[in-house]
Amino acid sequence: MKRVVCLGTLTLAGVVAMASAHEARQERAPLFLKTVAENVYMLGNDPAGEGMRGGGNTAIFVGSSGVTLVDTKIFGYGQDILAKVEELTDKPIVRIINTHTHYDHSGGNVEFADTVDFVVHENTLAQMSRATCESVTNCGAFKGDDAKYLPKTTFSDRTSLGSGADQIDLYYFGRGHTDGDTFVVFRNARTVHTGDMFARKGLPFLDVPNGNGSALEFGETLKKAVAGIPNVDMVIPGHNDLPYVWNDLVLYSGFYNDLVDKAKAGQAAGRSVDQFVGSYSVPSQYADFAAEPDRLQAAVQYLFDGK
Ligand SMILES: [Zn+2]
Repeated sequence: MKRVVCLGTLTLAGVVAMASAHEARQERAPLFLKTVAENVYMLGNDPAGEGMRGGGNTAIFVGSSGVTLVDTKIFGYGQDILAKVEELTDKPIVRIINTHTHYDHSGGNVEFADTVDFVVHENTLAQMSRATCESVTNCGAFKGDDAKYLPKTTFSDRTSLGSGADQIDLYYFGRGHTDGDTFVVFRNARTVHTGDMFARKGLPFLDVPNGNGSALEFGETLKKAVAGIPNVDMVIPGHNDLPYVWNDLVLYSGFYNDLVDKAKAGQAAGRSVDQFVGSYSVPSQYADFAAEPDRLQAAVQYLFDGK
């Protein structure tokens, strides 16, 4: 019963959003600032609301000579992010890292000064630079005069920005939600922004068709992140309204990879996607993780298709 009520609310919200799309910039959802660690803040959505609201969570890192942002929400929210930063510090925003290309994580980029150092994984730059665009990949935002906002700093596997207490480590472990998902670690604050490789405690949206994501590799990428990122306590997730802790990421990898293993076994035993989906239930050790029916169906179909 509860789910029916939620779906009804979401549908209504979707209709209202479409009817008043041109008013979106005036009527923005309120944002919610949470201190995560020393000099690291999570700017998310007000937990009183639901749905997409401002988009993904933004990390604000106040370094010794300037501010680094991770992700800039939906177009229109850049000014709200800037206002929150100005409440925290007089220092300028010097760097913006996007965890991936999606419109709800990079939409606000073009609202900042083009002198900011924009940083992404090389595959995300390729997504942002594509000639043909779907709205989800947001490459339409970087055309014409706004091509100046295309990131000039990229990396392939691992890189570090800044030094000492300012050091930020960027990790790429392979395809997953898209083909360019970066894990951003604020080393001194022992905090990671996972982007949508860990959006919330539920099955992921897998952008296989547009973002070259992979349901199969999503699990391997999570395993590599858990094994390869040292000394982290706090997690800023892609979308959850509150931060998580490191063990939540460890459990998320276990939850997702359990599904992968079971789907592979089910397929090997000759079962159909629908048979497998109908028999799956979340294991008790991952009881606070959700397997929403549409996400489960999509993930299992991709896994059976070897995508
Ligand atoms: Zn995304």
